[in-house]
Parts: sequence; C-alpha cells; structure tokens
Amino acid sequence: MVLATPAHSGLGDSLSYWSPELLQEGALVRVPLGTRELLGIVWRVRLQPPDGLVAGSLRPVLEAFAALPPLSANWRALLEFAARYYQRALGEVALAALPPQLRELDASALQRRLKKLEGVAFAGAGEGEAPSWAAPMPDLSPEQAAVLAALEQGTQPVLLFGATGSGKTEVYLRAAQTLLQRDPQAQALVLVPEINLTPQLEARFCERFGAHTVASLHSGLTPAQRLRHWLAAHSGQARIVLGTRMAIFASLPRLRLIVVDEEHDPSYKSQDGARYSARDLAVYRAQLESRTARCQVILGSATPALESWHAAEQGRYQRLHMPGRIAGAVLPRLRLLDLNQQPKQCLIAPPLLAALAERAARGEQSLVLLNRRGYAPVLACHACGWKSDCPHCSAHAVFHKIDRSLRCHHCGHASRVPRACPECGNLDIAPVGRGTEQVEEHLGELLAEARRPDGGPVRVARLDADSTRAKGSLHQRLSQMHEGEVDVLVGTQMVAKGHDFRRITLVAGLNVDSGLFSSDYRAPERLFALLLQAAGRAGRDAAFVAAQQAAVELWVQTWYPQHPLFAALARHDYPAFAAQQLRERASAQMPPFSFQALLRAEARSQATAQAWLQAAHAAAQAAGLPGLAQLTLYPPLPLTVQRVAGVERAQMLLESPSRPALQAFLNAWQPLLHALRRQPAGRGLLRWAIDVDPVSL
Ligand code: ADP
Ligand code: ZN
Ligand code: ZN
Repeated sequence: MVLATPAHSGLGDSLSYWSPELLQEGALVRVPLGTRELLGIVWRVRLQPPDGLVAGSLRPVLEAFAALPPLSANWRALLEFAARYYQRALGEVALAALPPQLRELDASALQRRLKKLEGVAFAGAGEGEAPSWAAPMPDLSPEQAAVLAALEQGTQPVLLFGATGSGKTEVYLRAAQTLLQRDPQAQALVLVPEINLTPQLEARFCERFGAHTVASLHSGLTPAQRLRHWLAAHSGQARIVLGTRMAIFASLPRLRLIVVDEEHDPSYKSQDGARYSARDLAVYRAQLESRTARCQVILGSATPALESWHAAEQGRYQRLHMPGRIAGAVLPRLRLLDLNQQPKQCLIAPPLLAALAERAARGEQSLVLLNRRGYAPVLACHACGWKSDCPHCSAHAVFHKIDRSLRCHHCGHASRVPRACPECGNLDIAPVGRGTEQVEEHLGELLAEARRPDGGPVRVARLDADSTRAKGSLHQRLSQMHEGEVDVLVGTQMVAKGHDFRRITLVAGLNVDSGLFSSDYRAPERLFALLLQAAGRAGRDAAFVAAQQAAVELWVQTWYPQHPLFAALARHDYPAFAAQQLRERASAQMPPFSFQALLRAEARSQATAQAWLQAAHAAAQAAGLPGLAQLTLYPPLPLTVQRVAGVERAQMLLESPSRPALQAFLNAWQPLLHALRRQPAGRGLLRWAIDVDPVSL
C-alpha cells in the first residue's frame, strides 16, 4: 500500500502497487497514477495482494529511493494520528509534510543531493563546525539549575512556567546540550512561533552548537533550502531542528527532546489545510518516541495557554517554575491611565506622552503597542454615513495614509482613496479610529520638541506587517532597536514577541479595552498574555536599569481601570488570572472542560452554506452516529466576518464533555460529509472543512 494522492480526494487515498523487490515500510518511491508519476510513501508492505485484487492487476512501483533511509515507524504513527485526529486524508497530511522539491527528484538526482549535504552549514551563513561546546556560557541562575535538575528526573511533559527574562532560552540550550553530549546521535526539535521575528534565538543556537548542527524549517526558506534542511534532519546530520509549527512533522530518526517556546502563541494552530496544533502534536510525538527511548517535551511560557495550565493543575504535566528574572532584574510596575480623567478623544494621554519624552531624554527606549495596523480602520462620510467598505467582504477597508490607499485586511483588495464621498460627493471624508500609522505620525509631531541626551530629536519607528513587508526591513527595524537607533517603537503584537531588547524601560498599551468585553471567550486570555509579554520586553537588563535608576513601567490606557484583569496584571499574577478564567470556563463548560470542533462551510450565498450545515446535522442524526448522545450541535451561524473575497462563510459548533465521544462522532461523520458533498445538498457549496480544537470561533 503506497500513499500517493496529489489532491485531497476524500477518504481512501492509499493505493496498492506491486514491486518485484521487498520494499521497506516508510521508503520513498515513485509510482504511476493515471498518466503521471508521483512521489509516494510505502505505508504497508503485504506479501499477498489485498483481498479482491490479483497481483497481475496492480501497477508496479517505478523506483525506490534506496539512498534515503525510510521514514520511521514513529514518524508514520505521528502522521496517522494527525490525519485521524484532525479529520484529514492521510495522503494529504503525510505528503504535505515532505519538502515539495522531493517530488520533483528521481532517485539519482536525490543521491547527488545527499552527497552534497556532507559538510554544509544549514541555518547560519558561514562554514559550520561540529559542536565544540566552546561558546561562552553564562553560569546558571539557581532557578535555571533547579529546572535542569528536575528535567533530568521527570518523565512527564514539562510546563516551564518562567517569567519573561527568567532565562528560559538558556534552559532550552542547556537541556539540548546535555542531551547531545550524552548521546552522540540524539536530536532535538525546538519550535518557535515565528522564526523571522526572533532571529536572535536562531543566532544563539548557532553560536552555541555551530551552524553545521542546526537546521531550520519554516515557510521562509526557498524550496532548495527546505529540501536541504529536511534531508539534514532526516539523515541525522542536523542535531537540532529549529522551526515553526510545520517543523513538528520533520523526520527526526533520533528525536529525544522537543521544546515548544512561547507555547501559548496562537500561531501553533494551523488555520488551513489540516488544522493541527503543533503544541498538542509535540506532546503526542514525545509520547510516541518514548516507546523507543525517552523523549522529553518542554512547553515554555510566561503566560501558558489555559489548556496547558489546566493540564499542569491536573498533574498531567509537570510544572516547573522560574519566577525571577536574570540578575535580579525587576518586572515592570503597572500604571493604569484612566481615560475617564483625560481630555476627550486623545490618542495618547498627556501623562503618557510626558513619560515617553522623559524616557527618551534619559536615553531609554519605549514600546507603544496598538493592535491595529494602518492609519485608521475606516474612512467615513459624516454627511451621508458612507463607509469605506470592502466591495468583496463584510468588512471595512482600512485607510493607509502612506500611499493613500484603502486596503482590505481580509482579501487584500486595494483601491485609491476617493477624492470625495462616492455616495454624496461630500469632500469632507475623514478617518475614524486609529491604527499604528496614525500613532507613529502623531508621536512624531507630539515629540517634535523632545530631545535625547545628545540633543538630537526623538526617533519614532513602527513595527507591523506593513512596515516589514519589504525584504530585510524586519531585520533592519529590529537591529535599529537593538542598536539604540530608535527611541520609541510603535507596533502591533509583533513588538511583544520574545525579543530580548536591552534598553526598554517603558511599555504602553493603547487600545486594550476591546479585549475586556469581546464575545470571544478567549479574548481575556489573549489580552492578558499580550500585555504581560509586551511588558516583558522592558527592564530586561538589570545593570542598565540600575545605572539609569530607571522606573520600569507598563502603562495601560483604559476606560475600565477597575476591571479585575488589571488587578492580576498589576501583580504579574498569571496563576490568579488563570484560576479565575478556569473557574469561569468550568462553570460555562467551555474548553478545557469541554471539547469542541467546528464544521465550516463556504458558498456563494450564506443560505447555501447554512443549508449544507443543516443537512450535515440531519445526516448525522438520521444515521444515529456514535457519540451523538454526548454531543451538542449548535445551529449554523455566519462567521464574524461572514463574507471574504465574495465567499460567504458559515460554521456549526460541536461540543462534548468527552473527547473520545467527539472523535468517534467525527470519524463516523466524515464519510457522510464526503458523500453529502456529492448530493443535491452539496450543490453550490465551495468548500467544507472540520476544525478540531478550534482556537478562534
Ligand atoms: P526568557 O526567554 O525567559 O524571556 P531569555 O532566555 O531571553 O529569557 O534570557 C534573558 C536574558 O538573560 C538574555 O539576554 C540571556 O542571554 C540572559 N541570561 C539567561 N540566562 C543567564 C544566566 N544564567 N546568566 C546571565 N545571563 C543570562
Ligand atoms: Zn457622503
Ligand atoms: Zn476584502
């Protein structure tokens, strides 16, 4: 049985072929399909043809990639689990996990590639060396030492709950080092949310282990690089693989350690194709690998996902705590700026503005967080009420002043700002609300008089998806910040990611209130994490703070300073916040106290999409599917942004107190859905998909 499905064809996508020689399970092969030749994976080998087939009727395997070791049984088990759990075809998931270029090679081309691999550096630019362990290492803090000692003992998944700046990265480095020194073939996998945002981390791994030993896997690689790095991991040459969520599927024959850094980050959940959670798969994969030899998994965060926190509370994960910052650095003090007491319509309240000027005057840096890019979220006509709606989506097109464009952040549609209101001709159309571009502009104006210690003007820069689109610009922004060439950095949640900035003493959050009262039950968790992580960029260098005698502060502008979320934030008390959230979730029977899945449907009309979901519900009931009794199926609803690029989107939520019941139901439902798609009910439907353990509703 060989897996070789080019397109997602539904269920049975493994095909049977015949081979004169005995193939190994997990081997890569080329097989014919129709008139084409495709890459396949030998999934099962049978000595007899399957029932109902005679050997003579099977098409032959064209060639086996003998130079390449087969994909391991553990790898195949991981892919089988992922496909089944996330309700996708195995062929789709398994083949998507391989580098695309592999599909274009024949066996002899592959052999040449493998030859070239010997002696190249993967992640870094320069020539690599074998790990020398010669790079200078800091002495461990007592907390780090205690955690590393505990890691030696434990067998459970570890939740490393370490404050921002407590030195979690050093723990990962040492854990990997201990492992690699002890076992000359062992491999470690380190997952990070967005590798481009944290080039520092990659640099630290390369510096410590040598670029020769470290391979990276993420979507920013060229196809040739991706193949090279994948082969390095698969052949065992790369001892450390550093990557984004896709790297969870890397082939690592001697995997003994998996680290999930910033494990709370939503980017670990894939939002298309197989909607897998790399964090959850990391835990599963470590368990699988441990059948052969111990494989440790470490989930690290200062603000763990509530699911992970709950698992630790239940004793399923071992929680290791590093509450203190390195070298006695202090955590920022929270200052709430009550907007009820400030001038109306002010973007940045006067006391905050004064504080920013003062920091710059002392040679300290500040970070201003506003989670909305562009100049203003919408342009409006006050005469007739016209708004700059995207013609293809049920969303506003965002006003970008820099190029005077209106851009839809959902479908990418861009148009020029009209001279006058398209409805009534009024010339006075104006931006409503504010985005990072506007904050950057205003700060530039408001701080025009302010001076740095050397008498120069205060430099304001912006870090968001727009300002970093050009190649190299992200790197440039970050290094300007590290080099002290920027005084105030304005940005979206990008600024809050794991950067190790050294001279920031003030972080400010501007538009946080929407997170307090959102209909999304995860909004408070996200907001708390965002603010604590952003705050974590300040005061990281104890010596700098002491020399400056600086007050390290997190300023938050809000209309609701009494909100309990801020009380926990002021104490940096994640456990209290988590306990309160989990109580609410428990009483409402929300995850992690229940398990969810979504059935999503897309069509040209909302009615078609919803009708299909109804039919899917009816089909499940008519068939009396297993698990149904323990399941709640909610009525179909349009998504929050219901139309994107002219496509109407609807979804149906499924909820159960039992994960096995939900899984049993989904497994039985999937074939019905494929069948339903071909029946009249499926007419007009563009796409459907199941999202298991969704993170955004
Ligand atoms: P976290 O990932 O927990 O936010 P980092 O690992 O980035 O923290 O560490 C914060 C800073 O402290 C980094 O600059 C790092 O180089 C430094 N650091 C980490 N461990 C030590 C140590 N034991 N001694 C001195 N400096 C350390
Ligand atoms: Zn008008
Ligand atoms: Zn649009």
